[in-house]
Amino acid sequence: MTDLQLFNSLTRSLETFEPVHPGEARVYSCGPTVYNYQHIGNMRAYVFADTLGRVLQWKGYKLTHVINITDVGHLTSDADEGEDKMERMAARENKSAWEIAKFYQQDFERDLARLNVQTKQHPRATEYVEAMIAWGQRIAEKHCYELDSGLYFDVSTVEDYGRLARAVTDDGEGRIDTVEGKRNAADFAIWRKTPAGETRQMEWDSPWGRGAPGWHLECSVMGEALLGFPFDIHTGGIDHREIHHPNEIAQNQAYCCTNGLDDARNSGAKIWMHNNFLVERSGKMSKSAGEFLRLQLLVDKGYHPLAYRLMCLQAHYRSELEFSWEGLEAALTRLKRMVMAVETLKSRHAEPVSASMEPSEISLQTEGWTLKQVQGDEWGSLLGAFHQQFHDGISSDLNTSIGLNALEAVLGARKADVGKKLEAIAAMDAVLGLDLLSVSRADLRIRPASAAIEESEIEDALARRKAARAEKDFAASDAIRDELAAKGVEVMDGDQLGWEWKLA
Ligand code: AMP
Ligand code: ZN
Repeated sequence: MTDLQLFNSLTRSLETFEPVHPGEARVYSCGPTVYNYQHIGNMRAYVFADTLGRVLQWKGYKLTHVINITDVGHLTSDADEGEDKMERMAARENKSAWEIAKFYQQDFERDLARLNVQTKQHPRATEYVEAMIAWGQRIAEKHCYELDSGLYFDVSTVEDYGRLARAVTDDGEGRIDTVEGKRNAADFAIWRKTPAGETRQMEWDSPWGRGAPGWHLECSVMGEALLGFPFDIHTGGIDHREIHHPNEIAQNQAYCCTNGLDDARNSGAKIWMHNNFLVERSGKMSKSAGEFLRLQLLVDKGYHPLAYRLMCLQAHYRSELEFSWEGLEAALTRLKRMVMAVETLKSRHAEPVSASMEPSEISLQTEGWTLKQVQGDEWGSLLGAFHQQFHDGISSDLNTSIGLNALEAVLGARKADVGKKLEAIAAMDAVLGLDLLSVSRADLRIRPASAAIEESEIEDALARRKAARAEKDFAASDAIRDELAAKGVEVMDGDQLGWEWKLA
């Protein structure tokens, strides 16, 4: 089997994945702060983490994947300043912070499902406050100090602070020292006391007074509680490489009484992986400026969410990806071509190929097949070569772009057996998560929410038009076409992709 090579941000190098627990893979992904909708940039982080999880399953590991939900403690700046994001939104929307969290968590989970992100493990930070307090108590004496505003972590008490960011302790990006009395500019809050005379919606008693936990603490605590230290892989967006993850690592070192980071396991995880950003032409993606690019907006404009998943997979996760509507449309067209090719194969194949196979089941099959095909097995050398290309690409730090090319090569392999092609596609799609065996061409039709016409009406009109044309009544056929055009429907005769019609 080809070794799985992954880029570890901690060492800034490719490393061979070797599980901490034989046969298992444990992955923690920093999840959303549920004070607002997620933009599609945020969702890129979960498509990446999900693809990683699928690859690990495909390689035969039993996967545990956690995406936490930050429902408390995140200030408007990652560097411990500003207002509490949850409470600020609660005030703005005139709801409780708990209601805000619940609403936006549900919206996030709906987007995860629409993008085929598999994991259902989304624990909330507020469920772990007791554990956070216990953690604080364990590290307080050696690593923390108290100020009027809270309990702070002294970053000079651990070795190699900031190595992940390649930053020098007192000089990290964005670390403006606004809290009076901090020993080092990079010190951060473990516990934030509620100011005297005030009440927060989310607050708890602690040895350091009533208040709320710091944001960085939650991921340390939940990672340890759910996966145990050291676990295999910690993921997040590239912004987390600078502040959030170095702070998590410092807490983990303090908690485990380990020191320097020459041994990556001392950081709490063996491998730290970061996806690069999705950007807009105008720059960084934002929830406040410009068009708020939510997955729902894409759906409202008529795009199938999996076109966005494909758009993400076309780029390497470590490269910046620029979003454009043209790019999304091109991804949709590519997806459509694949789905059309699969539909044709399915129509030529008698036995259905299961689309619901777990990636691990498929892994066993494909692994077996790869080995067999090397010996000139029944899957055939042509498909075998494409499968090997897929395997090598994906194993090389998740090169999904090579994986997609290999999949398309299978689809285009004329001489190969139809059933075997479908099996190979099922196996590859278990990794890519594009639902190629179950999504239909009709599902991918562009359907803007604003369309003024029902699809059944379009289909009826097209059926009438077909009948008119069969009777060579071209005047009637043209009239129906014009009728549809007036309602914003473009009839696409002879379209190569078989769209048949499109809503303008
Ligand atoms: P947040 O809710 O801000 O904590 O972000 C959730 C996740 O999305 C984190 O892993 C961020 O690093 C990641 N992220 C934020 N913005 C982007 C972006 N434009 N592209 C890709 N990932 C992002
Ligand atoms: Zn986190």
